[in-house]
Amino acid sequence: LKVTVSDIDIPMSFGPAFEGERVRGADLHAQCGGGKTQCTELVKMAQMNEIEDGKIIIDGPDVGDLKVGDTFPLGIFVQIAGREFQSDFEPILERQIHHLVNYIQGIMHIGQRDISWVRISKSAMEKGFTLKDIGVVLHAKFHQDFTKILDKVQVTLYTKQADVDKLTATARDEYHTRDSRVDKMKDEDVETYYSCSLCQSFAPNHVCTVSPERTGLCGAYNWMDCRAAFEINPTGPNQPIEKGECLDPKLGQWKGVNDFVYKASRGAVARYNLYSMVVDPMTTCGCCECIAAMLPGCNGVMTVGRDYPGETPCGMKFTTLAGVMGGGASSPGFVGHSKHNITQGKFILGDGGLLRMVWMPKMLKEEIKDRIEKRGAEMGCPGLYDMIADETVGITEEEILPFLKEKGHPALTMESLIG
Ligand code: SF4
Ligand code: ZN
Repeated sequence: LKVTVSDIDIPMSFGPAFEGERVRGADLHAQCGGGKTQCTELVKMAQMNEIEDGKIIIDGPDVGDLKVGDTFPLGIFVQIAGREFQSDFEPILERQIHHLVNYIQGIMHIGQRDISWVRISKSAMEKGFTLKDIGVVLHAKFHQDFTKILDKVQVTLYTKQADVDKLTATARDEYHTRDSRVDKMKDEDVETYYSCSLCQSFAPNHVCTVSPERTGLCGAYNWMDCRAAFEINPTGPNQPIEKGECLDPKLGQWKGVNDFVYKASRGAVARYNLYSMVVDPMTTCGCCECIAAMLPGCNGVMTVGRDYPGETPCGMKFTTLAGVMGGGASSPGFVGHSKHNITQGKFILGDGGLLRMVWMPKMLKEEIKDRIEKRGAEMGCPGLYDMIADETVGITEEEILPFLKEKGHPALTMESLIG
């Protein structure tokens, strides 16, 4: 792997060689996000005269002001202007923040959007790391990698709680707008899906197939985003996949997808289904916003988001699930998915769809309440929201089963989940 330090003016080494590097407890100086504090990323288009290229603003205390072991909130706000720039490109650039920050030696980055997690090592601090270096990297690499579509990049790093909260609220509105761009589309409307192999540096066999009704499992890329990414970079990680012959309409399997995944996983994955978590599910990488797991005792499934630290009825916490599933394998009975995907039309439809959902963390359930109600009603179960158990009901199958029976949860009378 090549280490490029040449044109990026930061005191640490920089390049893909450092991408997989971890920052472990003993070497940790400070961290943000990861369920401890809020860490949010947003890329927004700006007018040419609104921003100054290369300007980096640190608004609040910097990491040098922190004690070893401290946590701090962080908002990374990138503004981009360019004659060729369109707001459709925002999610694509925003998703680059993950690997670009990871390229900095001694800095670790996990996640995306409003669930990011950054760990800063003591060794980076010794070399003189400051938050400004994140801005320097994003400015330099965005110019280098997206020269055709942008002219100016300005970065603001917020570390005061009130500012981070404000940015987070703005960002959530933006994420919502982006997510709903594909809301009216159906998989049947298109002949072409898109691949995403951006995560192969961490999960070498992992390929997301992004369809209108299945956003990428990180939640950051939907079908529109992948199409725009392909337009910007035709040889990049997002390639069109002609669906080709449909091999299984119920489970969502196509010959074109299988052929693509087989090649892109270098022969490791011969096929997968877009609409099932029970039979040959899609591969999962560590970025997933949520992981769904079968609960055979309830004839249903559960899902858990990255931001819920507690126990779950499948017997594993999110971090354990992510550790087991996140390496890029297809693990029958489990699948990584985005939050938005839970209420998309094809979510595990081959297994019975959202009507199988018997447990979710309260926080996640409440976050997408309106959408669960709407989708439940579409599926003939308007009361679904109140039938889904959460941690206040129980955290084992035995604890939640009486609740499901009492509410008359539809999963209990569906055909057996394990066939
Ligand atoms: Fe792409 Fe999937 Fe990784 Fe998201 S999780 S960046 S869609 S490969
Ligand atoms: Zn990933």
